[in-house]
Amino acid sequence: MLGLMAKITDDNVGEVHVNGAIHKSVTESDREKLDKGIEISREILVQAGVDPKSLYTSRIRGGHPGGTAGMDRVVNFDQETEISSLFVSDASVFPVSLGAPPVLTIIALSKRFSKKVASEYLKG
Ligand SMILES: Cc1cc2nc3c(=O)[nH]c(=O)nc-3n(C[C@H](O)[C@H](O)[C@H](O)COP(=O)(O)OP(=O)(O)OC[C@H]3O[C@@H](n4cnc5c(N)ncnc54)[C@H](O)[C@@H]3O)c2cc1C
Repeated sequence: MLGLMAKITDDNVGEVHVNGAIHKSVTESDREKLDKGIEISREILVQAGVDPKSLYTSRIRGGHPGGTAGMDRVVNFDQETEISSLFVSDASVFPVSLGAPPVLTIIALSKRFSKKVASEYLKG
């Protein structure tokens, strides 16, 4: 089996509830982008010689969760919450969905954040 994954920059909607439950809907604009991705993926596979009758589209999956404590919304640009010295440093602080693999951005943010913590909180 050969698979292609179409990733989109989805709309900034969704909720995390205090009991840990997550609600994330697919908006009309998300659906349009996904449909476009499916169309392009099908075209690539058919041009590569795949029998169109053998194509299958899987259900939608959330691949890179993040943005639940977005910068300039829940944390500031120093990744600090409204509670002094309480910081967030992971994919939660992305201000918007990247629509691309996030690990390099998470590493870059973490390096920036750890330098700040080391210089401001772990002196001497
Ligand atoms: C199958 C798969 C393949 C992927 N491939 C890629 C790829 O090729 N390239 C790419 O860039 N990204 C990829 N990703 C996405 C990437 O791995 C994630 O986006 C990234 O790890 C998110 O980092 P994070 O630090 O925000 O969260 P996480 O890595 O999920 O870290 C959260 C941490 O918090 C801990 N935790 C959770 N709840 C609690 C709690 N209550 N108390 C204490 N600790 C808690 C968890 O145990 C975990 O260690 C992939 C993801 C998956 C699932």
